[in-house]
Amino acid sequence: FSDQLAAFLATNKQELAAYQAYKGFGFVTVMSVLVAAGAYLLEHRREQVTEILHSIRTDALTGLPVGAVAEEVIERQLERDAPFSVLLLDVRQLARINDALGRSVCDTVIQRVAQRIRDNAGPADVVARLEGDKFIIVFPPGAGEERARGIGARICSAFSEPITVDDTEVNLDLWLAMAIAPRDGHTAAVVLDSCERALQRAKTADQVCTVFSGPGDSETRTVLKLEADLRRAIREQQFGIVLQPQIDLHTFRVVGAEALVRWHEPHRGIVSPAEFIPVAESLGLVGDITNQVLEKAVEQWSAWSRRDPEPIRLGINLSGVDLNSKRIISSVAAALNRHRMPGHYLTLEITETWLAQNPEIALSIVERLRALGAQIAVDDFGTGYSSLSQLTHFPVNCIKIDRSFVTAAHDVPEKVAVLDAIKRLADALGTKTLAEGVETVDELILLNRLGFDEVQGFLFGKPLSPPEFEARYVGKRVIQEFEPIRKQLHASAYRQMGG
Ligand code: C2E
Ligand code: CA
Ligand code: CA
Repeated sequence: FSDQLAAFLATNKQELAAYQAYKGFGFVTVMSVLVAAGAYLLEHRREQVTEILHSIRTDALTGLPVGAVAEEVIERQLERDAPFSVLLLDVRQLARINDALGRSVCDTVIQRVAQRIRDNAGPADVVARLEGDKFIIVFPPGAGEERARGIGARICSAFSEPITVDDTEVNLDLWLAMAIAPRDGHTAAVVLDSCERALQRAKTADQVCTVFSGPGDSETRTVLKLEADLRRAIREQQFGIVLQPQIDLHTFRVVGAEALVRWHEPHRGIVSPAEFIPVAESLGLVGDITNQVLEKAVEQWSAWSRRDPEPIRLGINLSGVDLNSKRIISSVAAALNRHRMPGHYLTLEITETWLAQNPEIALSIVERLRALGAQIAVDDFGTGYSSLSQLTHFPVNCIKIDRSFVTAAHDVPEKVAVLDAIKRLADALGTKTLAEGVETVDELILLNRLGFDEVQGFLFGKPLSPPEFEARYVGKRVIQEFEPIRKQLHASAYRQMGG
């Protein structure tokens, strides 16, 4: 139509070209104005929408994103391959503060709490406020357990400073729980649920500043339960000992007893040291257990020695944690004194692993224990990867060869070679040898042939309660139940000699 209009108005070709140029210019101008107006309206609308969205997605009190945002971030990150961690934080005292100091103080406290958490998280970590007292941090893809624990620890230490509101100081503690996605869930809901369950465990245990983790992480639960029970067990002295006989291969007499701790737990029954000693070590509780074992065992020894003119030696296991503290020296000295036990009847078993890893402390500790008269045995020898020459530096009295070298040794030439080498080394050092975990006569025959001095193991006897041990072995020169073993040993020696 505009072309027709231009043709109608134009009187010649030049005029027509001019009209068409004006027309094009006019068209562009009008369209530009229309597009600009449209864009302006759209932008305005978008801002309004963003504002509305922002107010829905941001917590009014703290300015942090709300939980739904964290959930979206988790969902989005789950689509990528890299695992990531999520940390849930719950402020223990907030409910009480609300009751005691009122809503407005509590609101200020929550703002400060939010600020502290935000300040201590990384810039790429999404910190959001869930309902009530809870906050959540979603770490970026690739940031695993270590990161969550590290940030958790940093936030906790930030909370060691109280928060001051209107001259009132409030001290806050955090419960912390963690989940790893996708290990603990393939959807945001499951990941968050997993965090919640870990948080419940933190609350049940009332353990602040410890990051609880994962769903079905029954190990964490057991360890926690174990921790609480262990502390009670120490208070209530629930630890007892059993004793395992050590037999001299030349005389077939019981020359020693190793005291092994047993925990008489009221609900579980007897708990094995393999289960609780590592936990006690990690909690710094093992020293208290050692003291109870030492006291019980030395007291028992003292009672027996009054009736037996040739008392047996008593072995006690020391943990590496015991040896890292000076307390062990005074504990041993006190026990010996209290029960008038000459030091040389007490053998302290120290693992080869610990000796090898702590050569400097080991030397001074060993010397100080020796100064009390006590004997030192290297426990679990062969498993500690010490260089054999290292051993020459320690003034030890006995090498206890680990059971792993003894079991079925007669069938395994490599084991025979190792046992032989250890025996030669011990001879060169003038140190006695004891083989642990002897279960069969065949093993015993081999050990006897290699010249081992003493043995300990189920073949001769399992660990027994003190009354049972006393009934069987104390004050007895010949143990009837050992006689069949002695006969088999002699018969084999006779055969070997070509008899
Ligand atoms: P360990 O010092 O090497 O103690 C020997 C372990 O082997 C004992 O297990 C004993 O019952 C077991 N055993 C002895 N003879 C045989 C055998 O012929 N065959 C087999 N299969 N096993 C045998 P237990 O009493 O369960 O102790 C395990 C470990 O717990 C001990 O190993 C020691 O490392 C630690 N432990 C035990 N009592 C104490 C203690 O009072 N303090 C510390 N710190 N650790 C202890
Ligand atoms: Ca031992
Ligand atoms: Ca051992």
